[in-house]
Amino acid sequence: MDFPFTPRYIPMNRRRRIYEGKAKILYEGPEPGTLIQHFKDDATAFNNKKHAVIDGKGVLNNRISEFVFNQLNALGVPTHFIKRLNMREQLIREVEIIPLEVVVRNVSAGSLSTRLGIPEGTQLPRSIIEFYYKNDELNDPMVSEEHITAFGWASPQDIDDVMALAIRVNDFLSGLFLGVGIRLVDFKIEFGRLWEGDMMRIVLADEISPDSCRLWDQSTGDKLDKDRFRRDLGGMLEAYQEVARRLGILNDNSGPAPTGPTLVQ
Ligand code: 5GP
Repeated sequence: MDFPFTPRYIPMNRRRRIYEGKAKILYEGPEPGTLIQHFKDDATAFNNKKHAVIDGKGVLNNRISEFVFNQLNALGVPTHFIKRLNMREQLIREVEIIPLEVVVRNVSAGSLSTRLGIPEGTQLPRSIIEFYYKNDELNDPMVSEEHITAFGWASPQDIDDVMALAIRVNDFLSGLFLGVGIRLVDFKIEFGRLWEGDMMRIVLADEISPDSCRLWDQSTGDKLDKDRFRRDLGGMLEAYQEVARRLGILNDNSGPAPTGPTLVQ
């Protein structure tokens, strides 16, 4: 996607912080309509009840998410992503976030397995899309399209666009990961409204990384995602590095690097 200006460098301490989440910070961007998305090393689970700092995680998620969003942009899936700025930051378009977590599932795991008693690892007969209302105080409750339209979080047309984009993202990601020996079990994505004058487009926002996906090694079933942290399995950074390495983002010979991975130039 073309971007008509070169971003000005603004020192960290001069930037206005717009929002701080559990794993990312949003700063004002160099031009109106832009923001800087900063990836932190914080890992949280169970609505912040569990917290740790995993040295280098933010760098890996920045690189993995950049890789995925660049490819989605190239395929014509509209996203907020403009470009990566440095090891931890991306330039993004400012969007009005739709307060929904959209979960796409291909294989039963996590809350679906718990809620419906389906053994983890069961291939689903078709991909399933679920909506959760983004609200920490309420623990992100699952909601239906009826709730979403009744409470005005999104219109029926917005929901149609969100579902169509979610399916395209799932098709792309499933193939991408299958090609590197990884089974895409499920993932969470978020969407925003991008205003261009009076015109509005729904675009993919936030991030796509092992923090927001379940990724299982195709042959061993090893978990290569945030469940390593949620379930105290250890080796979270190594798992994220393995995902990055398979996607060709890291050099094959780069071992664990607490100060961040080696860039492939
Ligand atoms: P589950 O509903 O089974 O806990 O999660 C389904 C999928 O969505 C998993 O891939 C999980 O990582 C992702 N997911 C659900 N909620 C969140 C969240 O609040 N943050 C992140 N990063 N991922 C989430």
